Amino acid sequence: MSEERSLNFIEQIIEDDIANGVNDGRVLTRFPPEPNGYLHIGHAKSIVLNFGLAQKYNGKTNLRFDDTNPVTEDTEYVDSIKEDIRWLGFEWDKELYASDYFDQMYEFAVELIKKGLAYVEDATSEQIAASKGTPTTPGTPTPARSRSVEENLDLFERMRKGEFKDGEKTLRAKIDLASPNMHMRDPIMYRIKHAHHHRTGDKWCIYPMYDFAHGQSDSIENITHSVCTLEFIPHRPLYDWFIKELEIFPSHQYEFARLNLNYTVMSKRKLKQLVAENYVSGWDDPRMPTISGLRRRGYTAASIRGLCERVGVQKRDNMIDVGLLEFCIREELNRTANRVMAVLDPVKLVITNYPEGQVEEMTAENNPEDASAGSRTLHFSNTLYIEREDFMEEPPKKFFRLGPGLHVRLKNAYIIKGESVEKDADGNITTIYATYLPESKSGGDHSGMTVKGTIHWVSAAHAATAEVRVYDRLFKSENPNAEEGDFKDFINPDSLQVIKEAYVEPGLLKAQPGDRFQFMRKGYFTVDPDSTAEKVVFNRTVTLKDAWAKVNK
Ligand code: ATP
Ligand code: MG
Repeated sequence: MSEERSLNFIEQIIEDDIANGVNDGRVLTRFPPEPNGYLHIGHAKSIVLNFGLAQKYNGKTNLRFDDTNPVTEDTEYVDSIKEDIRWLGFEWDKELYASDYFDQMYEFAVELIKKGLAYVEDATSEQIAASKGTPTTPGTPTPARSRSVEENLDLFERMRKGEFKDGEKTLRAKIDLASPNMHMRDPIMYRIKHAHHHRTGDKWCIYPMYDFAHGQSDSIENITHSVCTLEFIPHRPLYDWFIKELEIFPSHQYEFARLNLNYTVMSKRKLKQLVAENYVSGWDDPRMPTISGLRRRGYTAASIRGLCERVGVQKRDNMIDVGLLEFCIREELNRTANRVMAVLDPVKLVITNYPEGQVEEMTAENNPEDASAGSRTLHFSNTLYIEREDFMEEPPKKFFRLGPGLHVRLKNAYIIKGESVEKDADGNITTIYATYLPESKSGGDHSGMTVKGTIHWVSAAHAATAEVRVYDRLFKSENPNAEEGDFKDFINPDSLQVIKEAYVEPGLLKAQPGDRFQFMRKGYFTVDPDSTAEKVVFNRTVTLKDAWAKVNK
């Protein structure tokens, strides 16, 4: 976190609270994921904020699984969420589950019933909705609203015991059917759901609603600053009402703008659909905006934290250009990634005046941005692979690469001149013939010749074969959520291109999953876990071109 930037509005609130001795200056935040999917980059924003606040103010952060909906939740998600938070570089104080508070929440509900502030409703959810009125007209009480405390206590206990079917009864808070805030018009606190819960098993058949569970969990844990996204602003009066009426620890809710990224979707429901319907290979497909997908794509934790810091903490929703995320990783990898040569679309090049069978060792610097990265040895011979696009039979004027009669430098090696080509029956070039200038060797060039272009290459006899997966945006539309019709209609059909036989420096056979490289002139790539000892699989993290910085500088 940069120390020079001004305080964001939540830091300002916390500093005021500390100055005023609120909670004796104690800061306890929480990150409350629902374990119904993998974390995405929007969650990273919330994680960086919640954990960052605690770090800055000597506080702590709880990880609380908001597991009050038995049907959609799973321990697979719990495990992945923990892995992703740790990978992002944060450690929670306590690992907690809202479901651990079900007994306490039940007691809270009984207390509100006893105070005449909650009642058991018979009406269906449709009937409740219809009787709630509109923002400008008050709702009308249902007959259940006038039930006695005794009857409510009895019915609520019978709800718990499983005497009623799903949807037959609910527990509602008795607040104000004329409130301009619809959330205050006797909101539902409990519903019946005869469903197995991933932690509590079959102990419960009634489950608390978000509004009743969330604030109460915050309060039970003595959370001082409960930070959530803007859509919860209208829920805040209800959050405060439950805490006041129950006379429990006064946690406070603060809202900030969620992180939205263009050319993707972030709702877990939608991401789950992409996985279930095989549009992607899984939650960690490198095209997914999930933390695990970004990790597999080659993003570092620092680059994701960096994005969250740059975006800042805002009070109004906005859309962040994915180019900013790419800028963050490019900036880091430019400093840290070793340069290597990889030919993605190979064509054979034979140097006719270089002795057949001779192998020379060339020295190549690993990273011009980092002298401590050292150097490596490359093998040079008379038969190489170069990129097909680096040769043109009829080059236009400013083509500074290879063509008949054109000179170009082979990186870390010699200047060569294009001579002739050999083609197959379809007219495709199969071999390019060239000659080299023996006195032009890199590092000791006394050829007196200057060339404008330098191209990369690998020696055919030494190169290793690699699979390279080239990714593009998952969606063609900048905001698939705002499009009419199904968001899946806007999936980019060309979001993955698989190159089965690319040629890379043989040293890359030793690379481990997660290692990151710059393929010179091609982009940044990372080793995918699908790699084997015989074949390395690379994912393209990002191209070299810096479109975002150009537009925004
Ligand atoms: P989704 O709609 O993707 O399912 P959610 O809000 O339901 O998201 P939760 O697991 O409930 O997901 O979220 C955990 C925490 O992360 C919440 O505090 C939520 O506000 C926050 N969060 C979720 N998405 C974003 C986002 N895009 N930007 C910032 N914070 C987010
Ligand atoms: Mg949620």
